[in-house]
Amino acid sequence: MSESPDHSSLAPLRARLAAIPTLDAEALEAEAVALLGRKQGELTMRLKGLAALPIEEKRAMGGALNVLKNELEAAVEARRAELAQATSANANRDVDFSMPGRAQWPGTLHPVTVVVDEIVEIFRGLGFAVALGPEAEDEQHNFIALNFPPDHPAMDMHDTLYLDPEGASRPVGERMLLRTHTSPVQIRVMRDGPPPYRVVIPGTVYRNDAFDPSHAPAFSQIEGLAVDEGITFVDLKATLTHFAQRFLGADTRVRFRPSFFPFTEPSAEMDVGCRLCDGAGCAACKGTGWMEILGCGMVHENVLRDAGLDPERWTGFAFGMGPQRIAMQRYGLHDIRLLYGGDMRVLTQFGGVGR
Ligand SMILES: [Zn+2]
Repeated sequence: MSESPDHSSLAPLRARLAAIPTLDAEALEAEAVALLGRKQGELTMRLKGLAALPIEEKRAMGGALNVLKNELEAAVEARRAELAQATSANANRDVDFSMPGRAQWPGTLHPVTVVVDEIVEIFRGLGFAVALGPEAEDEQHNFIALNFPPDHPAMDMHDTLYLDPEGASRPVGERMLLRTHTSPVQIRVMRDGPPPYRVVIPGTVYRNDAFDPSHAPAFSQIEGLAVDEGITFVDLKATLTHFAQRFLGADTRVRFRPSFFPFTEPSAEMDVGCRLCDGAGCAACKGTGWMEILGCGMVHENVLRDAGLDPERWTGFAFGMGPQRIAMQRYGLHDIRLLYGGDMRVLTQFGGVGR
């Protein structure tokens, strides 16, 4: 049987069939519609055109068109699958599965928080509760009730961060400031109810200091107060010695040196034997073999009286220390700013695991 002109007219369709594996996604979909679309598709039109042909031609051409239709459909499907695979391969190219995973940060307690928690825990064992107070204080609580004379240099604007500058004209005592120590909480505790008191007071305090290796404008303090009948300087020494030996080691040596604070009398600084040189003297202890760790003293009778307590009946001691400095000594940090930078190398090395 010779090839009819209609048979040879399938040649352009065969050429388009051959081109299908080269089409991109957009061209493929356009070609699928152009060839196989139900209304205007080339092949669809050809099949519809069969009706006009004589029976013999209709049979021959119909068979050829149906074979071609199946081939076109198969070619379009194959190309679609190929393109889909290429697309997902492309998407995966942005993900390098050989890269190491991102480390999870479980979070740690700040070294200063660890120190404060340990101190609180030791005093809790001695029957001390935790007391807290506001960071924005008035001069009455921060200075005057603590027996600071009204002309004390700490009340100077250069040392203390006063709030509300317009309030500077207010009478001394009413001006608001960022507390310069945690001691005003002692006053709040004593005014809150009758003794006995045994409290430790952790908190943030503020000074008008620039950052340098040993100073910061905001830092932690932890303070303690014990008031009861019959408390003496022996109780102070025994309590603070016990604390130092629990915190730093049972063999820790302590000494008390006379000092001055407006709100205690007598007052003392407590030193501990330098653990770096074992008392021989080194740069950290400035050659003395001792390191100052806290200030302390017997609560001044003016403070007791001002809080409404009879100093003939009630006596007590108070102490205060700086957790930043303690953390620096313990972890061998030479710059206090390391405790502020949020440097993960410091925090993960010295911080504690959260509870
Ligand atoms: Zn030393």
